[in-house]
Amino acid sequence: MSTLPLIYDQSMEDLQSIIQSWDEPAYRASQIWQAVYHRLVHTPEEMTELPTALRQRLAESFDFGAYEPMRCVRSKDGTTEKVLLALNDGQSVEAVLMHYDRRQTACISTQVGCAMACTFCATGQMGLRRNLSAGEIVIQALHFARQLQREERRLDNIVVMGMGEPFHNYQSLAQAIRRLNHPQGFRFGSRRMTVSTVGLIPGIVQFGNDFPQVNLAISLHAATNELRNQLIPANKRYPVEALLSACRAHVDRTGRRVTFEWALIQELNDGVGHAQALVSLVKGLRCHVNLIPLNPTSTYPGKASSPTHCDEFVRLLSKHGISNSIRVRRGLDIEAGCGQLATSS
Ligand code: SAH
Repeated sequence: MSTLPLIYDQSMEDLQSIIQSWDEPAYRASQIWQAVYHRLVHTPEEMTELPTALRQRLAESFDFGAYEPMRCVRSKDGTTEKVLLALNDGQSVEAVLMHYDRRQTACISTQVGCAMACTFCATGQMGLRRNLSAGEIVIQALHFARQLQREERRLDNIVVMGMGEPFHNYQSLAQAIRRLNHPQGFRFGSRRMTVSTVGLIPGIVQFGNDFPQVNLAISLHAATNELRNQLIPANKRYPVEALLSACRAHVDRTGRRVTFEWALIQELNDGVGHAQALVSLVKGLRCHVNLIPLNPTSTYPGKASSPTHCDEFVRLLSKHGISNSIRVRRGLDIEAGCGQLATSS
């Protein structure tokens, strides 16, 4: 474990001024940036384009996060991998890599734990330990990108759907997106990134302004305040009607559709009436509904909806012309499914 600052916590401007304070030309910062984010090098020794003295100074000054994950597990079907990454203060964070449809998607975290306390979510039930820095968010994506590079594959999508509420750590999230997006570095396209929120309205507004091209997903799960209050405490502050208005404004501003996530929970939100309420709520809005049968967690007694109920729900949405998909549950054997991430360090 290192006590040095993470290189991934430096903006390009920060790095340039540090480099200049070492009496090196500013373009060295671009070279380092390219090595780290483009070639995915993670030790200064590999940056042979730099003078030896500079490489040494970098190694003495920054943590390049070259360490191995504390734990790495792969689901039996091989589609999902979960890693536990150690942070410099002894905390740890989980990130997941999913392989499907010949695409590689990294699911990354923004906090250790989460303060939102959604009843059905294991992360929500562990409480908030701390925010991640931008560098700690970025390093999760880089970890998988390096691994895929060794396998001669590429990362196709990044979803910010791991531990934590992204809009409860907006500053770090925004810096992380900018770093992943940076034209001289990782160059990851905005449209290949998705951020999921429990529905913090000020965050949605800010995000729409800052990142109109990055996809937005909303964890809806219920169409009435009565039910949503039970599942998602944040709903008391940002109720369904206000949330939907914010979504409509977001779609108007960005011209992009929003995704609603809906965990199908047996006899709770999976009936025809629930589907109808959802239809009325989102009518006329450019959106996609992502359904996912509830993943089991130790702290929530609810069960996944039966295949019959799932089918009925899907049929009703489709009948009303609402774009939807039902997510195949993956990674359950390694507790890497939605809402199952929780670390016990
Ligand atoms: N805090 C953000 C980011 C987490 S994304 C948010 O709430 O959107 C994780 C997604 O998995 C969210 O949509 C969350 O509601 C969902 N989820 C949580 N627990 C789940 C469970 N047990 N089964 C299925 N989905 C779950």
